[in-house]
Amino acid sequence: MRKKIVAGNWKMNLTKTESIKFTNQLSQKIKNIDLKGNRVLIAPTYVNLTAVIENKKRDKKIEVISQNMHFADSGAFTGEISANMLLDININTVIIGHSERREFFCENNDILTKKVNQALSKNIKIIFCFGEKLKDRNNNDYFKVVEYQLKNTLFHLEPNQWSNIILAYEPVWAIGTGITATSAQAQEMHSFVRNLIAKKYNKELANTISILYGGSVKPNNAKEIFDKPDVDGGLIGGASLKPEMFINIIKASI
Ligand code: PEP
Repeated sequence: MRKKIVAGNWKMNLTKTESIKFTNQLSQKIKNIDLKGNRVLIAPTYVNLTAVIENKKRDKKIEVISQNMHFADSGAFTGEISANMLLDININTVIIGHSERREFFCENNDILTKKVNQALSKNIKIIFCFGEKLKDRNNNDYFKVVEYQLKNTLFHLEPNQWSNIILAYEPVWAIGTGITATSAQAQEMHSFVRNLIAKKYNKELANTISILYGGSVKPNNAKEIFDKPDVDGGLIGGASLKPEMFINIIKASI
């Protein structure tokens, strides 16, 4: 049985002081909750990763992950962060392919493939984001677009490498807009993606893959979305910045 995962992507938000305060509040609130094997992840900005890890050292219920990483081992890549740098501060999961990276930092499928390969070669687990834009949805091209994104970034992987992949379906039109995909739309896409994996690999493998939904998940819609059979939790942006909202989304996953 796949366990649910709730991951908070803080993006370029929260100073070090605010990040520590948030983590303390979250630890306090989560302390008495039985997560029943579900996982809670937070992705602070690079510069605060170490402080957050140090601060929550004894809290095994919260995992700290990175929002991004570069595909090269090291070198002249001003402003970038390598896999080894993440591993050295005990980060072993990274978000790759977020639509904001694709849109604002021109990360195309070739770059994302290199990042995927680099992360896996270093034993770093990946939350891989994909999803269509509004025009694709309106043109009824959304299955085609998603299939293209996945086939050109992940489908070269060996079956055993998929144990290090979590998928996150994030329709771009739903990110930060307050417009959420309906639970039926999320389920439809998640089931489509699981079938793609089953066709390329096999059904058993497809059934082990966690597929998160992301896009304006809030405490009032989380449960309905998470209850769908192919939705294995959420990647949360805005609502992960408010401890009260985030904890209610975590509760909705249990
Ligand atoms: C995201 O950026 O991954 C996201 C889902 O953001 P929001 O929850 O704010 O829509």
